[in-house]
Amino acid sequence: MLNDKKALIENLLKFGYIKTEKVRKAMETVDREKFIPNELKPYAYLDRPLPLEEGQTISAPHMVAVICEKLELEEGMNVLEIGTGFGYNAAVISEAMNKKGQVYSVERIESLANKALENLKKTGYGETVDVLIGDGTLGYDKGAPYDRIYGTAGSPYIPESLKKQLKVGGRLIIPVGDKLGFQDLICIVKESENEFREKSLGEVVFVPMIGKHGWSEK
Ligand code: SAH
Repeated sequence: MLNDKKALIENLLKFGYIKTEKVRKAMETVDREKFIPNELKPYAYLDRPLPLEEGQTISAPHMVAVICEKLELEEGMNVLEIGTGFGYNAAVISEAMNKKGQVYSVERIESLANKALENLKKTGYGETVDVLIGDGTLGYDKGAPYDRIYGTAGSPYIPESLKKQLKVGGRLIIPVGDKLGFQDLICIVKESENEFREKSLGEVVFVPMIGKHGWSEK
């Protein structure tokens, strides 16, 4: 069946993208069809990225599951997302924390941010996800420090401001690499104010992170 959430989740479990009960529950609870344009709703539960607006995409479900697992979320955490899109990933993160804790999500394109806010409000995440319009490569100082930070757009390097806004013991996940090709999904653990342990989670393809510490628009 085309629009089969149950089958999608079974596959994500089978292929090891979903590993924990909290991520399974979050992916099951959040309806992806409520975060995509109307005409694409029949394709909501295919494991594929889908176009949003302005050349942006909603990440594939397996990518959302991987990020959610690797962040090792716990209830009550303070989380920063760069690249809200239509809000789906942020909703899954909030749900994985049982809506206990705060997600700040920065989006540079105003029309997407507004749509995300509307989607998040309608689905019950209006309180636990804050959508901010701006350049996420600068982080979001007002919500800092963060237990977890993740980027859903690919950057040429890891923005220093994000490392700074991370708590000691915190984790940062961000794709780093080519503007239009592949990136390495990097996970960083902040071991002390200026020591970071870095590891690669594998090759990925994300839209470019456009901003002061990302790519230029042209
Ligand atoms: N998290 C989304 C993924 C959206 S695609 C999901 O749930 O599917 C990545 C998003 O990052 C796009 O909407 C793009 O506009 C945004 N983006 C790119 N560079 C950015 C920046 N510097 N600051 C904030 N958002 C950015």
